[in-house]
Amino acid sequence: MFSYWEKKHFFDYGLIVVGSGFVGLSTAIHYKKKNPLANVLVLERGVFPSGASTKNAGFACFGSLTEILSDLNSMTEDEVLALVERRYKGLNSIRTQFGDSILGYSPSYGYELLENSQQGALDEMKYVNELLRPLFNDDVFSLLGNPGAMGFSSQIKWIVKNEFEGELDPGKYLSALWKLAQEFQIRILTGVTVTEIKHKEGMVAGEGGGGKEILEFKSDKIAICTNAFTNKLLPDTAIQPGRGLILLSEPLGFSIPWRGTFHMDEGYVYFRQVEERLLLGGARNKDFKNEETTEFAVNPKIKLYLEKLANEVIFPGEKVVWETEWTGIMAFGKIKSPIIRHLEGKTAVGVRLGGMGVAIGWQVGRELSGLLSEM
Ligand SMILES: Cc1cc2nc3c(=O)[nH]c(=O)nc-3n(C[C@H](O)[C@H](O)[C@H](O)COP(=O)(O)OP(=O)(O)OC[C@H]3O[C@@H](n4cnc5c(N)ncnc54)[C@H](O)[C@@H]3O)c2cc1C
Repeated sequence: MFSYWEKKHFFDYGLIVVGSGFVGLSTAIHYKKKNPLANVLVLERGVFPSGASTKNAGFACFGSLTEILSDLNSMTEDEVLALVERRYKGLNSIRTQFGDSILGYSPSYGYELLENSQQGALDEMKYVNELLRPLFNDDVFSLLGNPGAMGFSSQIKWIVKNEFEGELDPGKYLSALWKLAQEFQIRILTGVTVTEIKHKEGMVAGEGGGGKEILEFKSDKIAICTNAFTNKLLPDTAIQPGRGLILLSEPLGFSIPWRGTFHMDEGYVYFRQVEERLLLGGARNKDFKNEETTEFAVNPKIKLYLEKLANEVIFPGEKVVWETEWTGIMAFGKIKSPIIRHLEGKTAVGVRLGGMGVAIGWQVGRELSGLLSEM
């Protein structure tokens, strides 16, 4: 039961954004910048964003050597270059917008660990550098001289350095988005699960108060930014959820002989250090089928694989003790580009960010807000 005041002031908007991850908040902010008089509401089912934006590893990356080579098997050179450009420019634009210290950004470089069977990638390194040269005006990838100095197991034969990658703190990035949204007087309501959208009428129905309250909002425009969870609202969207697991160790108690963001296995496995701890994640390629889910749960097979990797390859001979673990859900498709389009009536979508939303989320929101402004 809502009061006269609540009905009068809380249910009617110029834009409603569903989902408050990187994309939802960026969409709301960019829309408000273009349309300062618009009343903008963001609806989020969790207390915090509950998908990927606060669950990720914080790699400010655009693709390792083997990942780019793998992409070149299914995409043209132009498509791969466009993909890398979108990610790299995306990273630069958040650094310019918020500043490195606000984001907790560190230009600590990216590294990829290669095993014997991956020697072929080294033969292609020069070719990939030439392909990316128009974008970076320099070699992106180079072979590290003394891989043994980082203390990895002898299974690691080569380490390829990426000069242009770094790392940030996803919680700081999200906090910066919240702060900016507040400055723009964007209203964010959390604990509201949107259950139905009537595209022509501009109606957004949801459940709040632990499912006890049925809410019906009206809006001139609607933006769906629910990434991996989009199929619950729009069943025909070409999205495949993909769960990601992250393990975080206790402070290690010994000095770590490396710094930066590390990839293995075409980017499926990744690790970095966070305040003297090991953050290790990924490996959904070890059990693809079971990781195609929106359920937040730990796959024991993948956890075991990562634990073994920590003790045998990253810190051979050490026993890493884990402090915490969590999962987040990403959204993938047959192709790697996001879906940004007008759906029908008053609704547009900006979803399917894959595993690089730190890099492209801000820009996807900017593009979606442009589209909404023209609808
Ligand atoms: C484990 C892991 C590690 C990752 N590591 C990196 C990395 O290092 N670097 C990188 O660039 N990217 C990484 N990513 C990917 C990146 O985090 C995502 O691409 C990005 O966060 C997607 O942002 P988004 O706003 O589209 O989606 P999300 O952050 O998932 O936001 C969608 C929001 O919609 C809300 N929502 C869904 N349905 C409803 C509903 N019906 N009603 C109301 N709200 C709803 C959800 O609760 C969620 O908050 C990683 C992802 C994971 C899971």
